[in-house]
Amino acid sequence: MNRTIRTKIIGAGPTGILLAVVLAKKGIYVDLVDINSFKELKKRRRAYAITQSSKDLLSSMQIWDEFEALSNGFSKLYVCDIEIDKKALFSSSDLIGIGRSKYVGWIIDHKNLIETLENILKNSRKIEFFQREDNNITDPNYDFIFAADGPSSNVRSLLEIKTYTKKYKQSCLTAKILLRGTSPQKAYEILHSEGPIALLPLGGDMFQLVWSATYESCLRRSKLSELDFLDELTLNLPYGLNPDILIDKRKVFPLEMNIPYKLTKGKVILIGESAHRFHPVGGQGLNLCFRDIKRIVYLVNKVQRHKLSIKKLLKLYSIYTYIDILQVAILTDSLIIFFSNKLKVFYPLRHTIMFLLNRSLFLRKILLGAMTYGPMTFLKFLSELRK
Ligand SMILES: Cc1cc2nc3c(=O)[nH]c(=O)nc-3n(C[C@H](O)[C@H](O)[C@H](O)COP(=O)(O)OP(=O)(O)OC[C@H]3O[C@@H](n4cnc5c(N)ncnc54)[C@H](O)[C@@H]3O)c2cc1C
Repeated sequence: MNRTIRTKIIGAGPTGILLAVVLAKKGIYVDLVDINSFKELKKRRRAYAITQSSKDLLSSMQIWDEFEALSNGFSKLYVCDIEIDKKALFSSSDLIGIGRSKYVGWIIDHKNLIETLENILKNSRKIEFFQREDNNITDPNYDFIFAADGPSSNVRSLLEIKTYTKKYKQSCLTAKILLRGTSPQKAYEILHSEGPIALLPLGGDMFQLVWSATYESCLRRSKLSELDFLDELTLNLPYGLNPDILIDKRKVFPLEMNIPYKLTKGKVILIGESAHRFHPVGGQGLNLCFRDIKRIVYLVNKVQRHKLSIKKLLKLYSIYTYIDILQVAILTDSLIIFFSNKLKVFYPLRHTIMFLLNRSLFLRKILLGAMTYGPMTFLKFLSELRK
């Protein structure tokens, strides 16, 4: 007989709600708590890139169709190194795995993501949502307590878990824009000396702009008139891309790397951005959170079937998650170190990387695989080679 498990999730951001939904689908009782109501939770203005590995998780829970209907699939990802004037193109044929989708990834608006999850959640009899601030981490009614309370996790502080923090020299400016000269099938990562610019297609001519630069530059740009802002953006984009209209308010936020020295304490598990936070280059943020969920579902399933003890679950979750965190830290920091500068000493390496990306399917598969699957890339790649 399966073991009955009761859990509490503190935080109903994208990680907390999706975790609640997938655990409930596995027959686990979940109390989900957030300071904010769902109305408030939907208000954030941002968009997320969803990779194949996140899609696989949603598909395995039979909830992908709901997300796909509200997201925009893109089949091409352009990476341009503006300083050395080289570009590389990734397409769905560069994805590891036979019979992959025709898309490299999908972009979904925050409101659509939360609304879809809320609808699924409402239909689940195993999830109860409570709106309150929750700092009770010793409640004996639960087998596990998940801290999905975001980057400035209060639970982490209450548990006295120290956190490695590095402030990036770059901050981020985000806004939605209308862009001419391209198609909704294309996403862009434009590497500039002052920081990368990501253009994420939301459908039609609408794109989410994520523009990294020094805090002073971001702040100055956020205060420019709409026309001056669009002019400056045009100057920073590859030739032919024409930003036309600014759709919403520009927002500026500082960027930090956070890695706690422990991911579990007692029966509390840090998950999502309470467990890691990185620079948005490479689109890893939410996908890394979703990979935490995938790991938890896999391990909890073993506990339910009496094949794993709770103690072992906590240990394995920490090991697997730290490997993933390490890989993302190396990937994001390498991109920032090598590409966010004008140091001529790095130019030969940058030329070589762009040359190889254009010539080598193997390299494109490894890089796209690392961004898509995390540490599972090599296993996926080996299984593809065996086929
Ligand atoms: C300003 C900003 C802009 C971003 N833009 C992008 C973007 O454009 N694209 C992208 O992919 N990613 C973006 N990110 C990153 C992305 O938002 C995160 O990856 C994602 O939100 C992580 O989700 P989470 O659920 O782990 O944490 P959060 O989304 O931070 O959710 C944490 C939740 O916990 C709740 N909470 C906290 N403490 C308590 C408590 N004590 N009791 C109850 N509830 C509590 C909060 O109310 C919140 O709802 C951005 C991040 C920030 C800060």
